[in-house]
Amino acid sequence: MEIKRGIAVSPGVAIFPALVLDAEDYRIPVKNVPPDRIPAELQALDKAFEASLADLNALREATASQLGRDIAAIFDFHYGVLTQNHIRDQIANAIAQRNYSAAYAVRETLRTYQRRFMNMKDQLLRERYRDVRDIERRLLRHLVGSTGAELAELKEPAIVVAHDLTPSQSANLAQTQIRGLAMDGGGLTSHTAIVVRSMGIPAVMGLNDITAAVSNGDTVILDGTKGLVIIRPDHETLAEYHAEAQRIQAAAIELVELRDKPAVTQDGLAITLLSNIEFPYEAQTSIEKGAEGIGLYRTEFLYLRQEAEPTEEEHYAAYRQVIQAVGGRPVTIRTLDLGADKYTQAQARDPERNPFLGLRSIRFCLQNIDSFKVQLRAILRASAEGDVRVMFPLISSLMELRQAKMALGDAMEDLEEAGIPFRRDIPVGIMVETPAAATQIRELMREADFISIGTNDLIQYMLAVDRGNERVATLYTASHPSVLQMLRHIVRNAAQAERPCSLCGEMAGEPVYTLFLVGIGLRVFSMAPGDIPEIKKIIRSTTAAHAAKVARRALSFETDRQVSNYLRDETRKIAPESL
Ligand code: PEP
Ligand code: MG
Repeated sequence: MEIKRGIAVSPGVAIFPALVLDAEDYRIPVKNVPPDRIPAELQALDKAFEASLADLNALREATASQLGRDIAAIFDFHYGVLTQNHIRDQIANAIAQRNYSAAYAVRETLRTYQRRFMNMKDQLLRERYRDVRDIERRLLRHLVGSTGAELAELKEPAIVVAHDLTPSQSANLAQTQIRGLAMDGGGLTSHTAIVVRSMGIPAVMGLNDITAAVSNGDTVILDGTKGLVIIRPDHETLAEYHAEAQRIQAAAIELVELRDKPAVTQDGLAITLLSNIEFPYEAQTSIEKGAEGIGLYRTEFLYLRQEAEPTEEEHYAAYRQVIQAVGGRPVTIRTLDLGADKYTQAQARDPERNPFLGLRSIRFCLQNIDSFKVQLRAILRASAEGDVRVMFPLISSLMELRQAKMALGDAMEDLEEAGIPFRRDIPVGIMVETPAAATQIRELMREADFISIGTNDLIQYMLAVDRGNERVATLYTASHPSVLQMLRHIVRNAAQAERPCSLCGEMAGEPVYTLFLVGIGLRVFSMAPGDIPEIKKIIRSTTAAHAAKVARRALSFETDRQVSNYLRDETRKIAPESL
């Protein structure tokens, strides 16, 4: 049994066999082969060794001519492994004696070596596991090639263990049998994290080397609440976790009973709880969880699921599906937020040096005005059929908002000319997710009908911490005093200007911040559908007066540690099981 600790990204417990996808997505098609295939597998192994050695020699030569022989010596270790008969014999034995396929035998043998290196005391030797992994990949590339579509082909429930998922892989997760996700990379607000949370799939990220520690088919316990991954658990641990999984299920049933009760504090303050969705089918789940509408519809997933851009009809069909599912409740459609960690195939082929500071979101739309207008026309058409609002992401200046509104005006003209109905006074809002927008909130609110605070981005830009980078994950926190002050500033100004203001970052669904947010005057929360019952429970367990007191005290601290300890203690007093 081996226990790994990472970032607890999506709560819950899952116990299933592992499906390991490494960074280059090799999946071993079969573990065992019939005896008569063994000679062919041995031959395939020889060919893979030869081809890998040829690759390596070419790489060594190219490196030597560009950087010199000394540098090219970094491949000596790889060369040694590939030419040493010992390792090749070990793999061949696994094929001949255990009926393993060549690919499976390569993975098993080299994973054992990787684990041995990882357990070494010497730092330099420990790092050698990466080289062995590289060799494994090289061999597998020749044995199985890259498949890419394999996640979709997952037929049995499994815990997916991956280095990282591409945006299109995460966009397609709903169609798979994935029951848990463990990743080397990723952070709390990375997009894969958002998707798995919205699907209620337990997940742990930022595990660094989980792909090397787990082999396909290993039993894995994934504890997304504590951020643990337990590999090949012993009987005792397994029994404990089966009991825990049952307890979680019972608690979830209890929360379901809250669905039809209002989110009102004990002294009568009503809070609106909306949901964040990525896919139309989630609109139905949102209502089942008690959402009063959709506060954030992230439409870029429509874009990431296919290589071609969605047509106006495809946008429109998706929006109609959401509108119909929510039956008259409000739907806030956010325009495309592509770029940074939600990139298209074309963007993936032409990466930016600083994608989070690059051509993302509204900037990308304003530079691709024709596709932007396709989406705007579809949103406008949908506005004739329900309570639709349009929201622009990542606004950082008035000019940007004005340009976006101009594009919306053009889309209106197009529809008018074609005689297609739409709502001319559709509410137009902005996301407040840059320090620039937060600081200039008064001016922006004069030209926007509503605002929604996107703390996922706001925090990363305020604290200069990449929201998806596991190496700096501990620095990424909503408890930072400057974040709390900024939130109060925004919420206060919105109240003074009488502009509707919601908060739709992941923070809205984190129980530890509920008292603070109610206390500073936030009245609309938008979160993953699965978080709604828990947050409602906290709201129903407190008073507005108490929340205001908690917020004032939270704002008096100087460090994030003090803030989070305090908020945790206060939350524990009223809802101990929420934490
Ligand atoms: C945010 O930044 O808080 C937000 C809700 O948008 P996204 O997570 O899609 O960037
Ligand atoms: Mg954002």
